[in-house]
Order: sequence, then structure tokens, then C-alpha cells
Amino acid sequence: MDPRPVDRTHDRVAGDSSAAHTFTDVAGPPPFVIALDGPAASGKSTVGPAVAERMGYFYLDTGVLYRAITLAAISHGVALDDGEAIAHLARTVCLEVHPPTRDDGRQVDVLMDGQDVSLEIRQPAVDRGVSAASAHQSVRAALGAPQRGAIRAPGTILAGRDIGTVIVPEAPLKVWLTASVEERARRRSAQTGEDLAAVLGAMRQRDHVDGTRAVAPMKPAVDAVEIVTDGLAPEQIVEEIVALARSRGAPG
Ligand code: C5P
Repeated sequence: MDPRPVDRTHDRVAGDSSAAHTFTDVAGPPPFVIALDGPAASGKSTVGPAVAERMGYFYLDTGVLYRAITLAAISHGVALDDGEAIAHLARTVCLEVHPPTRDDGRQVDVLMDGQDVSLEIRQPAVDRGVSAASAHQSVRAALGAPQRGAIRAPGTILAGRDIGTVIVPEAPLKVWLTASVEERARRRSAQTGEDLAAVLGAMRQRDHVDGTRAVAPMKPAVDAVEIVTDGLAPEQIVEEIVALARSRGAPG
């Protein structure tokens, strides 16, 4: 096994189907997929990489893809209600996700057509626009294959909003991470230094749009295990997910 498996978080994840792996590419048992869904700042990007490290799995935060495509739309002057134009960008822009190379607050390196956009995808303009851009069926269809293509052995954790319901409904473990919106806004504000009231308002709005869109709304799969993270230490959540995965036969 690769001794630093989390560091395999790289690869072209969109815009180049030749890089895609599928369940059938891999000899041996199918990769064990953990679908890690939940609203913004529920803990996915803290807990997901830690579970991946523990189990020797690959981790992909799928929100990065929606953010990058939203940034591409904004910088190309594409209206966020123009689903076809955004989907075209999603099919043609080359996105790469790598482990972070700089200690400037980024969670991962994100390259768009070779350009480092790791910090730009977290800008307020992207926060404000990403739910609208993500609501289009055509955009979600364009980003579905790269998400499934990122799955690899021995296991993969995909974090997002619709992983357990739409992207990998057959995943043997689905976790819905959540916390009160106040707690989530506090976390985000502490992380970014943005005004708490502004973060809270924006988060409520994003939760609303993500949760009520017609296509692939954010919601727990019926068979997801819900973990409410208010007051829980990240290590406790990691332990719980690792234990759940092992109890379901996960390798690693
Ligand atoms: O996870 P993050 O907060 O970075 O996601 C940004 C946005 O991308 C979400 O608010 C949502 O609109 C969209 N998204 C999505 N489906 C996913 C991941 C993210 O619609 N699987």
C-alpha cells in the first residue's frame, strides 16, 4: 500500500476523461466508498482527510469542483443562471486537485487550466454564487463523471452534498455530518475572520438553495448514519467513522 495515500489527492478530476478510473478498472475487491455529506462547515473537510489518513484512503472534497467552475464562470463573465454555458466550462476546463503545497490557509491545491486558484475559490463572490451555479442539472451531470472517476482502491472518501443520494448511492457507508447553523457559522467565521452575522446570513441562504434545488438537493440518504458534530471533538468523529467503516468490512 502506498505509505502516504492521502497524498494521492491529485489528478485531473475534470476536463480529461482519460484520467478516470472506475470500479471496473481495478482488479480485486471494489474500492470501499465512504459518502460523507452534509452542509457547509459541518466538519467534512476536517474529518474526511483524517479518516483517509487513518485508513489509507483517497479523499476528495467535491465542493472544490463546484467552486472552481463557479470561479471560471465569474471570470469568463458567464451568468450564473446560464446552466448550459457553465456546464460547457465544466466539460472543458481542466481541473486538478493536489495536496497543499503552501501553508496559506488552503486545504488543497486547486489548479484550473494549470493556474493556482486554491485561494480564489474561497472568495466571498464564489461563496455567494456557488449554490446558483451548482443547481443546474447540466452542471451536475458534467461534474458527476469526474467525481465517480476519482474513486480508487482500497477506498475513497467523497465529501459533498449528494454523494450518498446521487453520485454513489451504492456506497457501503454513508455519513451525514451536521451541526446547528449557528455553530457552523461560528466555525467558519473563526477560520476566515469574516463577520459572524454576515457568515450566518450567507450560510442560511446557501443551506436553503442547496437543500431546496430541484436536482440532487442536499439531504441525507435514507440509510446514512447521522452524526451531529456540535460539541464533538474531531477525533471522536474520526473514531466513529473508522469504526463504522470497519464494521462494514472496509479494508485498511
Ligand atoms: O463544500 P463546500 O461548502 O465547499 O461546497 C460549496 C458549494 O458547492 C455548496 O454550497 C453547493 O452549492 C455545491 N456543492 C454541491 N454538491 C456537492 C458539493 C458542493 O452542490 N457534492
